[in-house]
Amino acid sequence: MTEIALASLQNLYRIFTVPEAPDSTLGAIDQAISENVEDFLHKHIVALERSLEEIEKDFSFAAIPEEPTFVSEYTEFVKQKLVAQSVHTAAPGFVGHMTSALPYFMLPLSRIMTALNQNLVKVETSKAFTPLERQVLAMLHRLIYLREDKFYDQWIHDSEHALGAFCSGGTIANTTALWAARNRLFQPEGDFRGIAEEGLFKAYQHLKCEGLAVLVSRRAHYSLKKATDLLGLGRDNLILVDTDLDNRIDLISLKEQYRELLKRNIRPLALVGIAGTTETGHVDPLDKMADFAAEIGCHFHVDAAWGGPTLFSDTHRHLLRGIERADSVTIDAHKQLYVPMGAGMVLFKSPDTLSAIEHHANYILRHGSKDLGSHTLEGSRPGKALLVHAGLSIIGRKGYELLIDLGIERARKFAELIDQHPNFELITKPELNILTYRFNPDWLQDLLPRLDPALLNQVNQLLDQIVQEVQKRQREAGKTFVSRTRLRAAKYDNGQQITVFRSVLANPLTTEKILSEVLQEQCDIVRDTEVQRLLEQIKTLLKNAKPAAAI
Ligand SMILES: *Cc1c(COP(=O)(O)O)cnc(C)c1O
Repeated sequence: MTEIALASLQNLYRIFTVPEAPDSTLGAIDQAISENVEDFLHKHIVALERSLEEIEKDFSFAAIPEEPTFVSEYTEFVKQKLVAQSVHTAAPGFVGHMTSALPYFMLPLSRIMTALNQNLVKVETSKAFTPLERQVLAMLHRLIYLREDKFYDQWIHDSEHALGAFCSGGTIANTTALWAARNRLFQPEGDFRGIAEEGLFKAYQHLKCEGLAVLVSRRAHYSLKKATDLLGLGRDNLILVDTDLDNRIDLISLKEQYRELLKRNIRPLALVGIAGTTETGHVDPLDKMADFAAEIGCHFHVDAAWGGPTLFSDTHRHLLRGIERADSVTIDAHKQLYVPMGAGMVLFKSPDTLSAIEHHANYILRHGSKDLGSHTLEGSRPGKALLVHAGLSIIGRKGYELLIDLGIERARKFAELIDQHPNFELITKPELNILTYRFNPDWLQDLLPRLDPALLNQVNQLLDQIVQEVQKRQREAGKTFVSRTRLRAAKYDNGQQITVFRSVLANPLTTEKILSEVLQEQCDIVRDTEVQRLLEQIKTLLKNAKPAAAI
């Protein structure tokens, strides 16, 4: 039995050298996870009735423990306070967010990654992993841009260039793309030494503009707000363009917004197309956006954090047509590449673009070195590229194609189930594998579009409360899970937003039967007195309004 607490110098050495015995508590957990992770999670994630506020009490001491603790004692804490109170994101009924089950090999490979503890910021701490990461970036680059082999032979390991940057997720990827675009727009010219040296104020003076803007549809991910803030552009200059009834950017509004900017002497830095919006999974008309970006001469970025892997599918790849014309593309590996949390990438069409943010230091990242850190926002980084490489190798193009095709198929099936169900209403049809819907009882569904706008609003607000209540209770019960959001629905296009359930169908273990159970559970919750009270309120509203309002 290995029981170690750091009470003496001898034990100090042991915690860095002695392996955990399989019969120890930590070793046992490790073994259970290796044997059957699904089973482990299912058995050990339990305490779902506790609210976050209650759970917080387990984590409210600020004092660092004075005395060392036995690993076994700590393991008990992990089991009871962390594992037991976690969220079972891999459960097949957990269809509300973009986090899903992982292929089993990600676990042992993550251990190997941790054991090697390479730091990818520099070659001195990461030998094989540096070329591996560059290879992974080239693989994703090729998936998007389909360049010829010669192109990759030339650039894949060229120390002065980069086909992309690996990072912790879509937020940093989007930020890096806009950072490179900004620095390229304000590159050194004549006396002006570039924005990287002289800052934003001098840069605006140099180009004689009052500001910079990023144009994107209203369905943009909030990371773009962070990016415009961080890059000094200001959140006001993230211009959210109206969408059409299918949640895609409206090109006429886009052109209007562009003209408005010109009048105010604000330069468009970038146009951002979304390939798979976070809320509804829709894809912008990328080809037409690429035309417009070329016409006005600005950077064209595609946020394909979610939808990028659709490119694996011969059947659905065409939905992203035009992505190959983007100057930069974001793809999250911890979403539809089924890699554990904390892996994203941004790819650049031209191997030159990232030079705009190049940074050198004397002790590392020297000129001509192959240190990846000279082209990334982050500094020290883990070897997560291994896990992406493993997925691409073990699952392969055809495997990912299968996962994507099945996800889209599953979303269509779920949409059918909702359509056929008397008490649910499909709000956004899935283009990829995300859809939204809401509870709307059969006696109300036909009536609703015929109500006058004021009454429609009142009824919708009560339906909003019902959806919110059902979603909350379903989450608290912990059997199945959908998320919720607010959006404008094509059917009730009166400019008002409604609350909807949002479902993401990316877990390959989610069956049609489980999806029926999700709906059944929601129907069961509706029978609850609280929700019934809201339904009664709708009935009363309608009764009192008749016949004037209900035509
Ligand atoms: C998830 C997502 C992001 C942000 O990615 P993180 O990995 O959460 O930082 C950005 N854009 C879109 C479209 C996304 O779906």
